[in-house]
Amino acid sequence: MASSSRLISRLALVTGGGSGIGQAVCQRFASEGATVVVADLNQDAAEETVDALQRGQKGQRGQIGQGHMAGQVDVSSKDSVKKLITQIQTRYFQPPSVCVNAAGITQDNFLLSLEEEEFDKVIQVNLKGTFLVTQAVAQALVACGASKGSIINMGSIVGKVGNLGQANYSASKAGVEGLTRTAAKELSKFGIRCNCVLPGFITTPMTDSVPDKVINKLLTLVPLGRMGEPAEVADVCAFLASDDSRYITGTSIEVTGGLFIG
Ligand code: NAP
Repeated sequence: MASSSRLISRLALVTGGGSGIGQAVCQRFASEGATVVVADLNQDAAEETVDALQRGQKGQRGQIGQGHMAGQVDVSSKDSVKKLITQIQTRYFQPPSVCVNAAGITQDNFLLSLEEEEFDKVIQVNLKGTFLVTQAVAQALVACGASKGSIINMGSIVGKVGNLGQANYSASKAGVEGLTRTAAKELSKFGIRCNCVLPGFITTPMTDSVPDKVINKLLTLVPLGRMGEPAEVADVCAFLASDDSRYITGTSIEVTGGLFIG
C-alpha cells in the first residue's frame, strides 16, 4: 500500500499495463499521485486498468486521481510506438517523464527444438520493444528540454542465470540489462535515469501456465519460500520512478525472494 505522494505531477507511461506486473505498477503509480498512460497490445485490458484507476480502490490511501489514459500499442512496431507517443503529447502537451517497459512475452521451448520464429518473436517484443519505447521516450524528453526522467525496464533474473526452456526469453532479458546500462550512460547528461528490475517468479497470467510441479520445485530454491506478488515489483518501480532513487542509474534490482542469491 502506498504511503506517500512521491509521483504527484508526474506523467508515467507503463507498457504491458493491462495485466500482471504492469497493471500493479499502474495502480501503485496512480496511488502515489502520477497520471498514468496505460499502454498494452490489448486495448480492452488497458481500458479496464484505467477504469479501475478512475474508480479508485476501496480503502486505498494516496491519490488515485483522474486523467489517466489507455493506449493500444505493439511495442515491437516502431510505427505503433511513435503513434502512441504522439497521442500522449497531443493529450498532455508533454512526454512521459517516467516510463516502465513491462510488456513482455514467453514462448518456451527447449534449445534443441526452439524454432527460429519463437526466438525472433520473443526478442522482437521483449528486447526490441524495450529499445523502441526507451528511444522514443528519451527522444521526446530531450526534444522538449525536460530536466529529468526515469526509465525502468523489466528484465528477469532468468537473464542472469538462464532457465530450462527459455533460451529466447533469457537472451532477451540479458539484452534488456545491457541496453539499460548503455542508455543510462548516454542519457545521464539529459537528467534521464535508466534502471532494470529483475523479478524472480511472480504470480501473474505469465506464470499461470507453469505446471504446479515446476513451481513447487522452483519454490524450494526461494529463501523466502513463496512466489512474489506483482505489487511487490511495483513497489520497487515506484522507488525507481521517484526522487528517492535520484542517485541511482544503470543498475538492476532483483525482486526474487532471494532466488539465486550470489
Ligand atoms: P503478463 O501478465 O502476461 O503481462 C504482459 C502484458 O504485456 C500483457 O498485457 C500483454 O498483452 C502485453 N504485451 C505482450 N506483447 C505486447 C506487445 N507486443 N506490445 C504491447 N504489449 C504487449 O506478464 P507479467 O508477468 O506481468 O510480465 C510483465 C513483465 O515482467 C514482462 O516483461 C515479463 O517478462 C517480466 N517478468 C515477469 C516475471 C513473472 O514471474 N511474472 C518474472 C520476470 C520478469 P496480451 O495479454 O495481449 O499478450
